[in-house]
Amino acid sequence: MSDKNVSIYVIAESSGRSTHLRISYYMAAAIVFFLLLVGSGIFYIVREMVNNSASATLMDENLLLRSQVQDLDLDLVELQRQMELLQMYAAQAEMPNSGPWELDVRYPDALQKTDQILHKMVLLRQEVQMLYPLILQHAEDVSAQKLQFSRIPKEWPCEGVLTSNFRYRINPVTGKRAFHAGIDIGAPLYTKIYAPNDGTVVFSGWRGGYGNIVILDHGQGVTTRYAHASKLLVKVGQQVKKGDKIALMGSTGQSTGPHLHYEIRIDGIAIDPLKYLTR
Ligand SMILES: [Zn+2]
Repeated sequence: MSDKNVSIYVIAESSGRSTHLRISYYMAAAIVFFLLLVGSGIFYIVREMVNNSASATLMDENLLLRSQVQDLDLDLVELQRQMELLQMYAAQAEMPNSGPWELDVRYPDALQKTDQILHKMVLLRQEVQMLYPLILQHAEDVSAQKLQFSRIPKEWPCEGVLTSNFRYRINPVTGKRAFHAGIDIGAPLYTKIYAPNDGTVVFSGWRGGYGNIVILDHGQGVTTRYAHASKLLVKVGQQVKKGDKIALMGSTGQSTGPHLHYEIRIDGIAIDPLKYLTR
């Protein structure tokens, strides 16, 4: 066995000098084995390093995605809260609301549901865009109603007692069933009648069953009527302030005794004054 040797000649190209190395076969095998071992070790280490860096990148991306999904979830919750408010508003305004209103934000694995979340957010944004002008319009209507409400008188136009309500009744003069479009306030003849709110006199004179009547325009479609007066104290076109004397109580027209027939009308439609009078 000892005669199985391996000779290695190393020749330097520049000088032509050679070096002769003789080692045993086993030694040569051991060296080759050692080199293979070192080589595979280096390969394994390099591979691990590459893998680690790739998985670190993936982990970073994963973390980023997760935080993005969490942001989306938060956005979605906020959007849903806004939609609930809008829905409530729409219901109050009796506006036609369309779906889809239902929204389930309980996602077991948010990462897998990103597409659904994005899709629902798009739908929600469409709903918001549709509702927004309706709500603006509603807000304008509400402010117009508030303005109108401010013009409706809240105070009694004279002293006296309520003798007839706003309702169907048998007319005391004609004996027929008819709607009584105002309230009657009974008091002595010549009791002073005051403007319960600022306004313009649009009628002051005789008008059929009303007898002597004053009609005031308070703006925003709100008018008031003061009928059966014994004396009219204002003229058409005159501006009156709240508390100004406008007439004296009487029993002119269809009347069975001294009283004020008081009406409040909105856009010409009579409303029940008792719903607004405070006392
Ligand atoms: Zn009356």
